[in-house]
Amino acid sequence: MQKIKDITDYLETLAPLAYQENYDNCGLLVGDASTEVSKVLITLDCTEAVVDEAIRKGCNLIVAHHPIIFGGLKKLNGKNYVERTVIKAIKNNIAIYAIHTNYDNVLHGVNTKIAERLNLKETKILSPKKGLLNKLVVFVPISHFEQVQTAIFQAGAGKIGNYSECSFYGEGKGTFKGNDNSNAFVGDKNIQHTESEMRLEVLVEEVKLNTVLTAMLLAHPYEEVAYDIVPIVNANKAVGSGLIGELAESMDEKQFLQFLKDAMQTSVIRYTPLVGSIKKVAVCGGSGSFLLKQAIAAGADAYVTADFKYHEFFDAENKLMIADIGHYESEIFTINLLADEILKKFHTFAVILSETNTNPIKYY
Ligand SMILES: [Zn+2]
Repeated sequence: MQKIKDITDYLETLAPLAYQENYDNCGLLVGDASTEVSKVLITLDCTEAVVDEAIRKGCNLIVAHHPIIFGGLKKLNGKNYVERTVIKAIKNNIAIYAIHTNYDNVLHGVNTKIAERLNLKETKILSPKKGLLNKLVVFVPISHFEQVQTAIFQAGAGKIGNYSECSFYGEGKGTFKGNDNSNAFVGDKNIQHTESEMRLEVLVEEVKLNTVLTAMLLAHPYEEVAYDIVPIVNANKAVGSGLIGELAESMDEKQFLQFLKDAMQTSVIRYTPLVGSIKKVAVCGGSGSFLLKQAIAAGADAYVTADFKYHEFFDAENKLMIADIGHYESEIFTINLLADEILKKFHTFAVILSETNTNPIKYY
C-alpha cells in the first residue's frame, strides 16, 4: 500500500517545493503524510464542494493546484469558506496537498499542458530563474577519479538542457600533512604528502546538492575531502515562468482566436487586436501580466494568459496580441497532467479527476 508521503515525495521530484514563489504555500496543507492512500482526487481548487466529492467517492487525498490555505489561518471556526473547507477535510480524515507555483515553474508543468493543447513546437521557458545553480569543484586522486565522477553524475549533477554528464577536469598536484589522529588514504602521519589529483567541476542544481554531496563523499577515498560549493548566477533554463513556442502554421488574428477557443474550450477571450500574423506564442497559466515584457522581448506574436487588468492591456502597444482566456480556463487541464503523472508511477490506487466546476466566475 502507498502512503500519502510516497505520492507527495514523487510530486516533489517533478516540482520541488524550492521552486515555488516566496508568497506561495505549496505542500501538504492538511493531513498526516504516513496515512495509507485510498483514492486520490485531483482538482484545480479545493473547496467545500470538492471535499464533499472526495467524501462521496472515498478519496482520502486531494491534490489541488491552488493552495486552500494561502495567507495563513489565525482562527478555525468556520466563518469563511477556507476555514470550513479545512475543518471538513480534517473531520473526514482527508488530506489536502497543493502543487502551485512550483508546478508553474517547471518545464513539464502547468504551461506544458497549455502548449500541448496549442500544439506549440520548440517550447522553452519564457523567464528562466536565477540563483538555483551551484558549481561544485572537488579534488580527487587520479586512482579514484572515475569512481567519484560517476557517483556525482548518477546523483544528478552535470545536467545542462538536453545534455547530461557535463563536467570539466584537469590534472594537478594536491598536498596534505596528517596529524597523529589522522587516518590518511595515502602517505605517512606528520610528513607532507603530494598526490596527483584531478580537479573536477560540475553544475549542480540547488535542489540536488545534498544528494550529490552525499554520493561524492561516499565515493571519495579521502578522510577529509577538499571541495568548493560556489553559488552561480546563471539562469536555470529548466526552471522559471511561462513558456514560449511556435504554432505549426501561421494564423491570422481571427483564425488564432477561434483556434484558441477550441483548444482551451473557452467561450470568451479578452484580447488586444493585432495587425499581422501569429506564429510565435507565449503562454502562462493563471495571472500572467507580470510576464508581458518578457513575452514582447522574446518576440511573441501572441501572449495567452489570464487576469489582465484594463490598463495592463494598453501595454501590448500593438507589439503582440494579449489573449486573456480566463484563469480557470487557462489552468483546468493541469489536472489531467497531474493525473497522468501520478498514474505513470503508481498503480495500486485510483486517481480521479474532480467533476466539481470550481470556477467562481460565470459568463452571461
Ligand atoms: Zn492559478
